[in-house]
Amino acid sequence: MLLVVLLSALAAAPLVVVDPGHGGAQGGATGPGGLVEKSLALSIAKKVKAQLELELKARVVLTRDRDAQVSLAERVELANRQRPDLFVSIHANSMPTQKQRRVHQGIETYFLSAAASGERAKKVAARENEETGTQPRGVAGDTLSFILADLQRAETHADSSRLAYAVHEALIAETRAEDRGVQQAPFYVLMGLEAPAVLVEVGFVSHPEEGPRLNDAAYQAALARAITQGVRRFLAQLDARDGR
Ligand SMILES: [Zn+2]
Repeated sequence: MLLVVLLSALAAAPLVVVDPGHGGAQGGATGPGGLVEKSLALSIAKKVKAQLELELKARVVLTRDRDAQVSLAERVELANRQRPDLFVSIHANSMPTQKQRRVHQGIETYFLSAAASGERAKKVAARENEETGTQPRGVAGDTLSFILADLQRAETHADSSRLAYAVHEALIAETRAEDRGVQQAPFYVLMGLEAPAVLVEVGFVSHPEEGPRLNDAAYQAALARAITQGVRRFLAQLDARDGR
């Protein structure tokens, strides 16, 4: 009896892979006062892991749990090996020019598509894909097989869209940050994933106010609560649909 209870509890526990962007020599975006995206992403990801474990009793795997370099392809392979229920990548945004850095702030949540939803989305994906030597298989040599494989993942694609909206709405409600919308773009770290997957740009590290806020423990905790709430709503949608 106890074993049955234990087994059903295990079966019900969602498995989530949380991916802190960048790491090691790949610092990502930078902001005022020495803010570095890789450190913010790791700190926020650890809080997301703790919150998912606490609130959803989820099993959570981080693609890195320290300041280490992990290629984008390795992150995808690591995630697929786990066969997770979903994948969340954590990043922070930035702007290149002084004028833009003063103006742009807010949260964007992405899911994968071959074409970006706009010029801005295209630039964000280009910046996040910049890491050298990490182009995933299928993109470099064999585009057709990549596209065919992607079409087979159509249901995963629709679920990624649902996950993106659930997480994004919770983030905006919890943080009151500027709502820059759910968007689509060809991120390498989302390509080839066999689970619903999103990439969250939690804010602009380059903004004079939002940058430092992203480094604040209480604000990071709010981001973690919101992402957890979004994941909870997404999983509830799946359960309702699949009659689980
Ligand atoms: Zn990034």
